[in-house]
Amino acid sequence: MIYDVIIIGSGPAGLSAAIYAKRAELNLIVIEKAGISGGQIINTYEVDNYPGIPGISGFELSTRFREHCDRLDTTFITGEVTGFRLEGDIKVVTMDNGEEYRTKTVVIASGGVPRHLNVPGEDKLSGMGISYCATCDGAFFKNKEVVVVGGGDVAVEDAIFLARICKKVYVVHRRDQFRANKSAVSKLMDMENVTVLWDSVVERINGEDSVESIEIKNVKTQESKQYDVSGVFIAVGYIPNSQVYQNVVATNEQGYIIAGENCETNIPGIFAAGDVRTKDLRQIITAAADGANAITSVERYLNNL
Ligand code: NAP
Repeated sequence: MIYDVIIIGSGPAGLSAAIYAKRAELNLIVIEKAGISGGQIINTYEVDNYPGIPGISGFELSTRFREHCDRLDTTFITGEVTGFRLEGDIKVVTMDNGEEYRTKTVVIASGGVPRHLNVPGEDKLSGMGISYCATCDGAFFKNKEVVVVGGGDVAVEDAIFLARICKKVYVVHRRDQFRANKSAVSKLMDMENVTVLWDSVVERINGEDSVESIEIKNVKTQESKQYDVSGVFIAVGYIPNSQVYQNVVATNEQGYIIAGENCETNIPGIFAAGDVRTKDLRQIITAAADGANAITSVERYLNNL
């Protein structure tokens, strides 16, 4: 059997792709790793920026996405993709149980994971004051004191965003210079309620049921100091789940699959959607939009075969 499309991943991008593919009457399967749909949003306490359903929990939103797919009789396969290769124009997906699936097109919607600091308190307080997404969770910290960790575009833009909402924002960066673009940096430096702690690393995050304080060490002076804050936003990069595909499709130096808004990769018939592809804004709504765009590109490709 050769499918029209195999969708790898069942986060918002994969589930949206599945809805569009079923409505286009394509012959497809969705492969999901954990046997539960939703991807990263399953662990999001509250989603307040998905239009039309303010305040919905990430779990509830992903359940609704999945129910929509089930209503269209979508076939889900549980398992991990361990191999991926081309046989001419056919794409072959190998699973951890040795099973192989063949398909004319693939939508890689395998997502990514935010890089963690791996400091004491991080796992325990994740979702309880520690967040990896300022645009998702920032509004819960109105008039509070927060820390942003990182020195890239995301950290600096998150800090600007948070400084407009929060009473005080500390930016903790391990070097004495930001990696982020200069105009964002100068905007940040002009904000009165922002203090940058240069050459500094997080030692631990404290709290019982929520974040209460953070311990930060200056790596030059070796001095440690405790800051009483209620939020910690970690923005030290993402790790895209693209390892299995890197021998077939082009990725950038951070491992993101290179694809534009039409989700086309450098290989005809292979599409990348959601957080795994190169893009500026990684949100539920942009992932869902990718699912729609990817299937539109799949249809165009299949029509030209
Ligand atoms: P990034 O550019 O890789 O920056 C990650 C930051 O975290 C760096 O400052 C890095 O420090 C720091 N870091 C990494 N590991 C750390 C650790 N273990 N402990 C402490 N700090 C750590 O990642 P990003 O900011 O998430 O951006 C991802 C990509 O999207 C980038 O290419 C970025 O340019 C792009 N982006 C662009 C825009 C835009 O154009 N407006 C907006 C958002 C994102 P060092 O600097 O010391 O390495």
